[in-house]
Amino acid sequence: MARESLAAKKERAAAIEERMFAHYGEGACSLDYEDPFTLTCAVVLSAQCTDAAVNKVTPVLFDRFGTAQAMASARVEEVEEIIHPLGFYRNKAKNLVALARTVCSEFGGAMPRDVDELQKLPGVGRKTANCVMCEAYRDPQGIAVDTHVYRIAHRLKLAGPSANTPEKTEAILLKVYPRDQWLYINHQWVHFGRDLCRARSPLCGECFISDLCPSCGAC
Ligand code: SF4
Repeated sequence: MARESLAAKKERAAAIEERMFAHYGEGACSLDYEDPFTLTCAVVLSAQCTDAAVNKVTPVLFDRFGTAQAMASARVEEVEEIIHPLGFYRNKAKNLVALARTVCSEFGGAMPRDVDELQKLPGVGRKTANCVMCEAYRDPQGIAVDTHVYRIAHRLKLAGPSANTPEKTEAILLKVYPRDQWLYINHQWVHFGRDLCRARSPLCGECFISDLCPSCGAC
């Protein structure tokens, strides 16, 4: 593909997003949660697990420890017992209790509302912080770049080979997309990555943005 100017890339990105809206609307979070604290816990639990598996353990977890105060007073073993069907449950249990204790000790018991502050919580990286800002607060301060968003940004060649980390890929997407669309990209692209632009054998023949994709048929 010939070198594309930023203006041309923005135009192509806008056309892609228009079709994403036509197919997926605003998208929706597939994790069950009640508020910013429970969403943060659910996203931490979702690492290396399906959202469906997380949704099976969170009703019991949030019934017992659904606030930062309750989780902060839990023993790690009690949390482990509830979330043990999930991968890495020991580490996740340790993080949830530490996260809740940090909310209580550093933030007066209320969840922070800022992407940098959120990352001060154990187990919360930039992707999780962006998810919480978008989903729970509807105040996007970035785009959550998970495995789907990373793969799709690179296949679409919105991000080039030098954007070889989620952080660098996010930085490019933030330049290409206007802020009022940051809220929707993660949800829409996760659906798209599951439906069509799969990690293995993407369904390019059925893809509704194939004419806008430089990798069409080449993955
Ligand atoms: S054409 Fe293929 S590689 Fe490109 S976005 Fe669609 S499914 Fe993905």
